[in-house]
Amino acid sequence: MSEQSPEEPFIRASALPMLNKCPCFESGPPGPPAIRGTIQHKRLEAALKTTIFNDVGLWAKEKVAVKWAYDWVIANTSPRRKSEMKLAPIGEDISMMRNMIFDVIDEGDDVVHVIDYKGGLPHGYEPQMAAYAVVGMRHFKKDKAKSTLIYGKTQTEDSCEYTMEEAQAVIQPIIQRVCAEDKKPSVCDFCDWCKKYPCSAHERSIKGDPRIIAKIFGNKK
Ligand code: SF4
Repeated sequence: MSEQSPEEPFIRASALPMLNKCPCFESGPPGPPAIRGTIQHKRLEAALKTTIFNDVGLWAKEKVAVKWAYDWVIANTSPRRKSEMKLAPIGEDISMMRNMIFDVIDEGDDVVHVIDYKGGLPHGYEPQMAAYAVVGMRHFKKDKAKSTLIYGKTQTEDSCEYTMEEAQAVIQPIIQRVCAEDKKPSVCDFCDWCKKYPCSAHERSIKGDPRIIAKIFGNKK
């Protein structure tokens, strides 16, 4: 298990989709959707650990979503599945990544299956799932991983299979950009979720018009 000092740069697997768009992205405080997502995750985790589905605190549509996800996991994984399993990043090439918490991970016979629940809609999550695949394969010493996103809201799934090489090809370019000393922010569709918003990239993107800058930055400038 790798030790990580607080001074080292670190990357969360869940931030990889955002870092793929902008290498300077930094997660801001959780908004209402993220808070609702956490409650759904807790209910799913508890149900998988106890086989008792407790929907306390869930809104009506969330109850349906989480129950669907629970049934999906039971139907598509083996009894060896683990939920909310924390695994350290194994290997120097991903030593800058934080420990990963898998919603569900199932060792399987030949292919390790990693599953992530999403309360919202598809949003370019492939890099996150590729990182889970790398760690899942290394932890269970498998050559292949299947990564599945399950979307409770739409009751849909999205699976992808990786070899180690294929998963690394997804995450390593992102890690390299994030660790580059000369990285620059890039306006993207995740800016609203970023702690740094608005940043210097917005100033550049609006070509320095002082009226627009004042409107966006207000007293932050
Ligand atoms: S606000 Fe800036 S740093 Fe954050 S994601 Fe957008 S461009 Fe990148």
